[in-house]
Amino acid sequence: MGNSVLVFAEVKDGRVKKVALEMLSEGKKMAEKLGGDLSAVLMGSGIESLAEQLGQYGADKVYVADNEVLKDYTCDAYAKVMADLIKANEPAIVLYGATILGKDLSPRVAARVETGLASDCTDIGLDDDGKFTATRPMFAGKAYVDLSFTDSKPNMASVRPNALPVSPPDESKKAEVVKVDVNISPDDIRTTVKEVMKTAGEKPDLTEAEVIVSGGRGMKGPENFKLIEDLADVLGATVGASRAAVDAGWRTVDDQVGQTGKVVSPNLYIACGISGAIQHLAGMSTSKYIVAVNKDSEAPIFQKADYGIVDDLLKVVPVLTEEIKKLKAEG
Ligand SMILES: Cc1cc2nc3c(=O)[nH]c(=O)nc-3n(C[C@H](O)[C@H](O)[C@H](O)COP(=O)(O)OP(=O)(O)OC[C@H]3O[C@@H](n4cnc5c(N)ncnc54)[C@H](O)[C@@H]3O)c2cc1C
Repeated sequence: MGNSVLVFAEVKDGRVKKVALEMLSEGKKMAEKLGGDLSAVLMGSGIESLAEQLGQYGADKVYVADNEVLKDYTCDAYAKVMADLIKANEPAIVLYGATILGKDLSPRVAARVETGLASDCTDIGLDDDGKFTATRPMFAGKAYVDLSFTDSKPNMASVRPNALPVSPPDESKKAEVVKVDVNISPDDIRTTVKEVMKTAGEKPDLTEAEVIVSGGRGMKGPENFKLIEDLADVLGATVGASRAAVDAGWRTVDDQVGQTGKVVSPNLYIACGISGAIQHLAGMSTSKYIVAVNKDSEAPIFQKADYGIVDDLLKVVPVLTEEIKKLKAEG
């Protein structure tokens, strides 16, 4: 095995996902410590031009698998290309964003190359001996485990979006582009993508959003979610909900945050009228900053919150929206 770091650079709607830049930024530091280079893998159709951006964010080399057969994600095709690249280049470390796609792809690749995977990590790095280490939440976020790998190589991890910072790009830096021969026969692909349907709106998915405004049973009814949407709009945030709000039919299950909903890790999570049940915390406790608006000062959410407002959300949320609008107008 070599001492290079390989990053799977996920593309959506013709753009590299931010989490890939987060992986490149951390991967660069690790490659420098290991004395190896940093490579990225781009997969899709018509994606070669994106290699330039990956170079600016630190990739020394970009493997481009550009083929019509990779236009839509299928686990068979993507896992085969990725596994073939790993077998041919023998990186020491392979990194993925723990997105919906990354969580599907990474264990399949790990199985194909017969190595372990640290999934859904909140931190990664190298220890003093240059050994790869990862931190991941366990037991619905109640505990964190620091883990290292045994002798299986490469060391693979998927890391939650927004868990790591992005280093500034160097626009003068160019990566070597290596075109990958995509040798995939129809027999290799057991699924067919018939249609890709977009959910309404341009906001990022909850799992990748940097700012989330969520509402719970304290919203009192679906009509009051307009207040949450207005606040989300001024912040460029995505709207989330507790299970109580979803079960009441006020929001769709797509919006549910928690143990049986989505696990999110934004920079800012604003919980409005949410009590902070353990099953809700399981989905959002790794958020960088948590703000709670609740009229009950004893609500458990305040034990997790960095900032709290004890008052009626129907009064507080519109004021927050107006104040943020004013601040934005003042620049
Ligand atoms: C197996 C299992 C899985 C689960 N999975 C999930 C999950 O994925 N996600 C999830 O969220 N839950 C989940 N739950 C449910 C969870 O236990 C809670 O019931 C749920 O999170 C409660 O939602 P809530 O906080 O919106 O409602 P409540 O607990 O009823 O809290 C409402 C809060 O709103 C406040 N409030 C009321 N009116 C106002 C007002 N006008 N202004 C300000 N504050 C106000 C109240 O003080 C209260 O704190 C799960 C439960 C089980 C058993």
